Amino acid sequence: MKNLNKELTSIPTEPVGSVPRSPELQQAMASHAQGDITEDKLSAFFDAAVKDTIIQFEATGSPIISDGEQTKPSFATYPLQGLENLAGDGVVIPFEDGHSRQLPRLTKGPFNYSTYAGSYLTRAKKYANKPIKQAVISASAMSLLYPQDGIDGYPQEQFMADLIQHSVADIRSCFENGAHCVQVDFTEARLAIKLDPTKGVLKQFIDLNNRVLAHFTEAERQQIGFHTCPGGDHDSTHSADIDYAELIPLFLQLNAGNFYMQMASEKDPEKSLKLISEHLRPNQSVFIGVIDVIDENVESDETVRDRVLTAAEFIPINQLGTTDDCGFSPFGDDIATSRTTAFAKIAARIRGTQLAFDIIKNG
Ligand SMILES: [Zn+2]
Repeated sequence: MKNLNKELTSIPTEPVGSVPRSPELQQAMASHAQGDITEDKLSAFFDAAVKDTIIQFEATGSPIISDGEQTKPSFATYPLQGLENLAGDGVVIPFEDGHSRQLPRLTKGPFNYSTYAGSYLTRAKKYANKPIKQAVISASAMSLLYPQDGIDGYPQEQFMADLIQHSVADIRSCFENGAHCVQVDFTEARLAIKLDPTKGVLKQFIDLNNRVLAHFTEAERQQIGFHTCPGGDHDSTHSADIDYAELIPLFLQLNAGNFYMQMASEKDPEKSLKLISEHLRPNQSVFIGVIDVIDENVESDETVRDRVLTAAEFIPINQLGTTDDCGFSPFGDDIATSRTTAFAKIAARIRGTQLAFDIIKNG
């Protein structure tokens, strides 16, 4: 088990990452897209947004912070910005409330990333005093860009080899730029079971992500985690109707050190926590979601405390952490939740986790 000889001083707690963008930032990004403001002007808006986000993040008492993904177009599409071998008509992801998001489709090879996530840390480090977490998109999500009927002269095997190389470089860029830890956003894990109930697609996704992880040492993998959730966009989900029990045993086969798992919005968390406890390996930690990002009501400290205490009934304390169920705004244009609400919820997570730790330590 982890940290067996180390006396626990707290329960680790980390954000998933994104924070809603301010109306001023949204406006600036739209103006820039239309060619109305210069790159330099947009950069000044980015600086102001990241600075304000980090100041507010640190004010919550969060021991690990993020830049709130203020300058990422979305959690999934940042590596594709500016690429010219893409068309708009890729895989469609339908959400419960009727809206959908569509991924691009690769039109020709070779596939490469235009942006590595480590580049976001340069701006964040200017303002941060606390360790910074950086999120990256999973290789499995990017694998959806390759069209089902193939690409002439660019076989799928070559695409996969290029994808793995770039996904590894994306994660490595975060460590090289000073990230404390890296989170791989694997939000399509539960969705994969909806698309293919035989779980063949999910198994392929896990195998692909493990091929990426194989490029890192065990020590590095201890700083790499995977996030799962039923999706969160405009306060709606895409795969909450899939039983978590179908996903958990396979999800924990990822050879990562950490798992960031939505749980606050689950109807029967005990059932899922029990399964996690049965499948979690000794060198792995699980960060349980104690903040429901879809619910606009801010959790009381006591609600968070009780969610942590429930998790601690199942998960060994030296393998347990807490997190938010998801980012507050994974897509840049999602403003369903206000920044004020997001930071109030993060602060409740920090305080409630501490309350639970005090009880466990003294119990
Ligand atoms: Zn999520």
